[in-house]
Order: sequence, then C-alpha cells, then structure tokens
Amino acid sequence: MDTLKHKDLPFWESLPLTSKKHPDEQSVINVGGVQIGGPELVFIAGPCSIESIEQIRTVARAVKGHAHILRGGAFKPRTSPYSFQGLAEEGLAMLQAAAAEVGMPTVSEVVSPEDVDLVAAYVDMLQIGARNMQNYALLRKVGQCQKPILLKRGLAATIEEWLLSAEYIMSAGNPKVVLCERGIRTFETLTRNTLDISAVPIIKHLSHLPIIIDPSHAAGRWNLVEPLALAAVAAGADGLMIEVHPHPEDALSDGPQSLLPERYCRLVESARELRLLLEGRGLHA
Ligand code: PEP
Ligand code: MN
Repeated sequence: MDTLKHKDLPFWESLPLTSKKHPDEQSVINVGGVQIGGPELVFIAGPCSIESIEQIRTVARAVKGHAHILRGGAFKPRTSPYSFQGLAEEGLAMLQAAAAEVGMPTVSEVVSPEDVDLVAAYVDMLQIGARNMQNYALLRKVGQCQKPILLKRGLAATIEEWLLSAEYIMSAGNPKVVLCERGIRTFETLTRNTLDISAVPIIKHLSHLPIIIDPSHAAGRWNLVEPLALAAVAAGADGLMIEVHPHPEDALSDGPQSLLPERYCRLVESARELRLLLEGRGLHA
C-alpha cells in the first residue's frame, strides 16, 4: 500500500476520480439502504432474465434472507439477435413488484441511453453490462442519473480501461459506482470466461470504489460457481452477484450457469463463514 505514488502505474494521472488518495480510502455505495463497500459482504441474486411474475416472485421469496439485492434483466444484451431479448418495461414492473413484496432493492441492466430514465424509474441500481463497458454515450448518460451504477468489466478490457469507464460516469456527475468483475476472454474453452481474481486485490490497491464478483458469467456452468464465489471472498471482494433460477433447465437465458435457490442459499452461508474466518485473522476486516 505504500507504493501508491509511483512509477509502476503509468496511467495513475489519468484516474483522478477513481484512484485512492490515501491507502485506507474506501467508498461505500448505498443501494436502497444496502451498503456496498462497508464491513458486510453483499449478495445480489436473481435470474438472468425476468421471465414472468411467478418466476421472479419465486426467486425473490427463495433468496430473501440470503440476498440483499434482487437482480433480473429486462433489457438483455444477447449475442444473437434471435435469442430472448427480455420483457422490457413489463419485466421491470415485475421485478419492482416482486422486490417490494420481500422488501429488497433491485438492480437491472440498461443497454441504451434512451432507456436510462425508464430503467431508473423502476430500479435502485443500474447495471452496465460487459458488452457496453465502452459505450461512452451510455456511460455519460448514466453519469447524469442519480442512481448507483454497477459497472461490469468488458469482455476484453484491461483494468485501466475499466477504471477509465468509471471515470466517464463519475466525471459526468455520478460518483456512485460499484465495479463488477465477471470474467474476461482468454484461450480457455472449458469456462465461459476466465475469472480474473487478481482484479480484486488490484482494484483494492488502486481504487476506493467497491468491487464485487459475478462468478456466474465467469463460469458459465453452475458447478463452478461455488468455488469461484469462495475464491472471490478469500480475495477480499465486497460482494457477489449470482444467477439463481427455480428451473434452470427451462430458463430463457443462462440456465446452465444458474443455481437452484437451495444451492445458492447454502453457498451464501459458506461465503459468510469464510468471511468471518478471514476477519478473525485480521484479513479484509
Ligand atoms: C448479466 O448480468 O445478465 C449479463 C448480461 O452480464 P455480462 O454483461 O457480464 O455478460
Ligand atoms: Mn446472464
């Protein structure tokens, strides 16, 4: 932590808003009453896409007590134009209703600048997806909104580029940014992406912004989600975002990486125990 002024970081000068001014600086971002970046590990859970009111309600009830924030996509950035694109405003209304019933704040993705005001009217936090990390018009637009932003790392973005995207949002007027590492493209084909676990300690070293991990999109397979999630906790992440579906085999998107609610709840218990163990040893406290 004493090397913060330094030759090993040639891009330091270009990060006036995201970089730490002193080693202990840590921003805490309030999302509908949930503090991300504070002492408590934060869990965000829900389906990849909102599919029906029954589906999102079932997930909300099942994860209540084991998640702080309910997620669900209504505007989906799908690789194929022929894949399910999301329920748009109708889906946002379902997310809002299901979350209100269990008393949880919400996060959902926005994919175009024209939809920012609409999505912001329904959710507590706006997500910028990996594919849009360098969509500068979208970054500027969410920078003018007052809701917190979950900024995912781009599929092939360096940590410097990712922080520069956060600078776009913050310099436009919105300081409430949470970073989310979700795996990057590598030559490996047995995972959907390669989780860059080193992003956690690097961001903790460089930036005051909170960082969470999305092991679901990194793994691409449900049985890899738990080990990656625990690795993220061990590395010092501020939280986890995990895809949960009551019937993964019928999911309209990302079924293979979705956890059943019971498995998700067990994982949260293990993650909390691990965090306590590490805090007991003076780590990440
Ligand atoms: C998502 O969270 O549903 C999503 C599309 O994630 P990513 O942008 O990381 O692929
Ligand atoms: Mn997904």
